[in-house]
Order: sequence, then structure tokens, then C-alpha cells
Amino acid sequence: MRCGLHLHDLKGPNLTSTILVTGGAGYIGSHMILGLIDRGDRVVVIDNLSTGVREQVCSDAELVEGDVADTELVRDILKRRKVDAVIHFAGSVIVPESVTDPLKYYDNNTGATRNLLAACIAEGVSRFVFSSTAAVYGMPDTTIVTEETPTAPINPYGRSKLMTEWMLRDIAAAHPFRFMALRYFNVAGADPAGRTGQSTPRATHLIKRACQAALGRVPALDIFGTDFDTPDGTGVRDYIHVSDLIAAHLLALDALAGGAESNVFNCGYGRGLSVREIIAAVERVSGNKVPAREGPRRAGDPGMLVADSSKLTRQLGWTPRHGDIDEIVKSAYAWEKHLA
Ligand code: UDP
Repeated sequence: MRCGLHLHDLKGPNLTSTILVTGGAGYIGSHMILGLIDRGDRVVVIDNLSTGVREQVCSDAELVEGDVADTELVRDILKRRKVDAVIHFAGSVIVPESVTDPLKYYDNNTGATRNLLAACIAEGVSRFVFSSTAAVYGMPDTTIVTEETPTAPINPYGRSKLMTEWMLRDIAAAHPFRFMALRYFNVAGADPAGRTGQSTPRATHLIKRACQAALGRVPALDIFGTDFDTPDGTGVRDYIHVSDLIAAHLLALDALAGGAESNVFNCGYGRGLSVREIIAAVERVSGNKVPAREGPRRAGDPGMLVADSSKLTRQLGWTPRHGDIDEIVKSAYAWEKHLA
């Protein structure tokens, strides 16, 4: 992918860092690369291309095809490329799959991260941004979730990520190592410049599936549950534009570079939207009907999950810019059409 917007003057040459992005061929990782390249950082990517797409990696970044669990390979990259910090996206992300194949999740998420961290410690790389998830909260009693809300994941995916957060804490206590764990709510949308988007063919995310249904690429959107304790009975989530999420990562990275202590942040807008509200937005934006059929709940799905992300705003100065749901859907829909 040709990618650079060549905004390199934003940062002086002396401030340029080298960042290892794991899972950079995936949906969020590919946006992260653009965010880093656009501001003048050097980027090395490690991805095993199991779900990632090679073409999605910006050509200004170096792609190493390999596994983050391969400690020797990662050590070699960290050493040879003089990596300053790691942003870790690589992993498996499908909740229902984690229920049927838990070992895959403990391998790809928890075990692989353990090996990646071993490489960081061995090579003295002390700054780490981790892609965590709202799934660590499970089915919280409160409707709005803060970082203080007890973690109680209800599926192997959430547990595999929470175990990684625990590892990070233990390692940060034992070594000169600091981390930022960002707990994503529902990431959606695509690069506003149209350079990348959600390309995973088997993606299960609601907004992508609804766009596919609006385009007639799938016969219908399945609504997973209409009997939740929510205003219209369908699941409520906090959808965050991927560009605002990337901005949070850059702030987290810079905070670590500035000496900040390890921390955990929710990433969302504090706004819940139901499945039906998302369908309405996709219909508004596309001008097409979204054929939908109502079905049972999906295994492991909570009814409502909405972030209190005021800590991110307060402590890292995060200012969301792309929160309008029609803007989110517009970018996702444009990308879906482009994939034709
Ligand atoms: N959902 C749905 N149909 C789909 C995909 C998702 O009804 O084809 C619902 C799902 O039950 C949840 C919300 O949409 O309430 C968001 O699901 P998604 O898979 O996008 O993310 P999750 O919240 O599971 O991480």
C-alpha cells in the first residue's frame, strides 16, 4: 500500500523513534502504522499473516513475516532495528471462537505475549503499549464502565487479555519496564483518507457486517438477541472510530517516552448505541435497506458495554474527533465498497 501523507515535518528528526508494531497487517495495526508514519516515526512490523493482509501494510514500513511468539526472531528485530517501543496488536479477537477454541486464545494472546515480553526484557526495550479490551469487564453491574470497575471476563478472549495485563503488571514491578494497556470498546470505521480499513474476510464486527448486508454481499444481517435488558432489546456498545483510537495510542506512547508510569485506560466515547441504531445509521449513510433477521443471543455476549473514558482525556489529553456515528459508518461503508 502506498501510504505516507508525508507530514514528517510535524516532528523534528531528533524526535523520531523506531516502533515495532505487532499485528500491523491487521485492521487496527494497519491504521497504527499510518499514524506513526504520518508523524515521522520509523516502523517495523511483525505479522504472521494468519489473518492480516500484506497489502495493508504501508510500504514505508518494514514488514517481517513471523510470529511474536518467536522470542529469538523478535530479539533480533529489537536489536538490529534499535527499537524504542513496542505496540502490540497481534492476537486473536473473535469472542465466540474463543469459547469453542480456548487454547487458541491462550496460545495466541497470552502465551505469545509472554514470549514477546521475554524478548523485550532481554533486549532492554522498556516501553510497551498493549491492545487490551473491554471484554476484561465481562458483564459489569454498572452501565458505564470505569477503569476501577472490577474485571470479571466472561469468555476466554477476555480472560486471555486480562491475563496479559497481569503479566504486564508483574513484569513492570520486576524490571525497568513500563506499559500502557488500552481497553478498547468497539472499534469501527476506517482511515478517513481511504488508505486502509477492516479487510479481514471473516470479520464478525457489527458495522462491517451491516455494511456488507447493505451492499448485498451477505443475504442478511443476523441480530444476535432482541431480549437484552436494553432500551430496544438489542445489544448496546460504545463504537469508537479507529482514528480516535490511534490518537490514543500515540498519546500513550508519548507519555511513556516522557517517563509516565504504567497505566490502564478505557477507549470509547461514553455513548451506547444499539444494534438497531447501527442498522439505522448504515441505512441512512448507504441509502440502502439493511436486510436483517432476528435470532438468539451469541455465546458470551453482554447486553451493554459503554466506556467512561474520562481518565484518557484527563491524563493523556485525548480529544476525540470522529465520534459522529454517521462519520464512522461512512468511512466503514466507503472501505467496504472499495473491497469489491
Ligand atoms: N451483533 C449482531 N450481529 C452481527 C454482529 C454483531 O447483532 O452480525 C451484535 C453483537 O451481539 C453485539 C454488537 O452487535 O451486541 C457488537 O458486536 P461485535 O461483534 O461488533 O463486537 P463485540 O461487542 O462482540 O466485541
